[in-house]
Amino acid sequence: MVRLVLILGDQLSERMAALKAADQRHDVVVMAEVDSETGYVAHHPKKIAFTLTAMRKFASHLEQQGWTVAYTRLDDPDNTGSIPDELGRRAREFETRQVLATEPGEWRLLQALEASPLDLKLLEDDRFLCSRQAFADWARGRKTLRMEHFYRTMRRHTGLLMEGNKPVGGKWNFDHDNRKAASEDLFRRQPPAPGSDNTLDAVLALVEERFADNFGTLRPFNFHTDRKGALKVLDHFIRHALPDFGRYQDAMLTGEPYLYHSVLSPYLNAGLLDPLEVCQAAEAAYHQGQAPINSVEGFIRQIIGWREFVRGIYFLEGPDYSKRNALKHDKDLPPMYWGAKTHMHCMAEAIGQTESLAYAHHIQRLMITGNFALLAGIDPAQVQEWYLAVYADAYEWVEAPNTAGMSQFADGGLFASKPYVSSGAYINRMSNYCQSCPYQVTHKTGDKACPFNVIYWHFLNRHRKRFEANPRMATMYRNWDKMDAEKRKTIIEEASGFLDRLHQGETV
Ligand code: FAD
Ligand code: SF4
Repeated sequence: MVRLVLILGDQLSERMAALKAADQRHDVVVMAEVDSETGYVAHHPKKIAFTLTAMRKFASHLEQQGWTVAYTRLDDPDNTGSIPDELGRRAREFETRQVLATEPGEWRLLQALEASPLDLKLLEDDRFLCSRQAFADWARGRKTLRMEHFYRTMRRHTGLLMEGNKPVGGKWNFDHDNRKAASEDLFRRQPPAPGSDNTLDAVLALVEERFADNFGTLRPFNFHTDRKGALKVLDHFIRHALPDFGRYQDAMLTGEPYLYHSVLSPYLNAGLLDPLEVCQAAEAAYHQGQAPINSVEGFIRQIIGWREFVRGIYFLEGPDYSKRNALKHDKDLPPMYWGAKTHMHCMAEAIGQTESLAYAHHIQRLMITGNFALLAGIDPAQVQEWYLAVYADAYEWVEAPNTAGMSQFADGGLFASKPYVSSGAYINRMSNYCQSCPYQVTHKTGDKACPFNVIYWHFLNRHRKRFEANPRMATMYRNWDKMDAEKRKTIIEEASGFLDRLHQGETV
């Protein structure tokens, strides 16, 4: 009997377990562009265009390899609108009940597939270097779940940057050489731009017609949409940006959205690149003397450490993970996140490039937009919806732990040992944003004071009960207690005034 082989929009790899288990002579690959996927949040138009174009190109590639592909386009009249319904329709068409699928990366879709009346065989997604079971085994019995411990296990497991049982360079982590501010450089290389082609043009026209109201600009479209293009971006990164990746990975500069970041996450998450090949390319650059250990180690840690770790957390914690709200934050996401005007230059910069590029690097997400949402007490569900919608690399397995866990402390500190909050001083140290801002980062109070400077203390003060016993926050509370009472009162009053204006929808 024919089997249907389901390939989802983020499973665009010949290495998918379902493809490996299928028989090209008899089985039919099913791929579908459906409303339930393009519409579960208001995705950035670039993200939709990237996914649909990459899907269409991957389907053609499979056909060229000899597969039969039943492909549904978003505007096909017979499109039933959801993955389970498309499977049902194809099952009737090919007179079969058997489906081979690789487990999806989101509980939402996993549960929908498991409820299917068809005979579904779900295979493990072995593109990840740590299986769900291996992560659960690692986590079992541990009092705290720390990425750094997991990362060492993964270094040993993959053999990356290892000399026998010892880390290359004698240390697991070279972050003390990193975290430098960057200076302006007109000649900094930008990631290679893609060309145009008929498939991309057709999808751009479709997205323009159907998703005109979604936040984000579609053109110029700047993602590659096939494996060849993704490999080009990888090669460019290894040659031109990796050497400085470590040193400047936390830096931010006005008008420099990428700096030395790889911009590889959309390709990794969609399946166009494999995490191990990416790490091996970085490791080879180190061994060939093309990139220093602090950059290569830092980069590999992001992939076999953070990326695998957050996926492990997502599946370990279960479907309710993204609904948690440990700090009971309940304010609405301010309109500035959807493009409304703000005077805060750092926020305007991070959100502006998100709108135009569907990209912001980690520190912009964590210490600008995430930091502000946390300090301002925004409902973490709304924050998560935003992060899931606006970035081209956003899928819930990676977005939810980063947002609910790392950025918003909504899971109560499951793996973050303290909330990622800062005043304006950190932003000023790591960027040149404050130089172009009407607020004054050096003013602690008063009309011109940087809003981060007051809402930072407001956050610490209102959550004192929860955080004051945390040894990593002791200095913050000591500094707060050392201030004279009048100054503390002024800060809280000014912060409350600012937050009231923000929550009433005023431009701040
Ligand atoms: P680089 O800085 O070049 O890093 C290299 C690679 O490491 C990335 O491509 C990515 O695959 C991986 N990586 C780095 N940090 C992380 C991390 N914390 N978690 C997982 N992988 C990581 N990443 C996503 O892929 N999708 C998301 O939806 C997403 N949402 C986020 C939301 C918040 C609030 C925060 C703070 C971070 C989020 N991240 C997400 C993690 C990180 O910001 C992006 O992976 C990174 O910015 C992608 O850009 P890059 O490829 O240039 O990364
Ligand atoms: Fe952001 Fe404050 Fe600096 Fe303005 S002064 S850019 S609001 S940190």
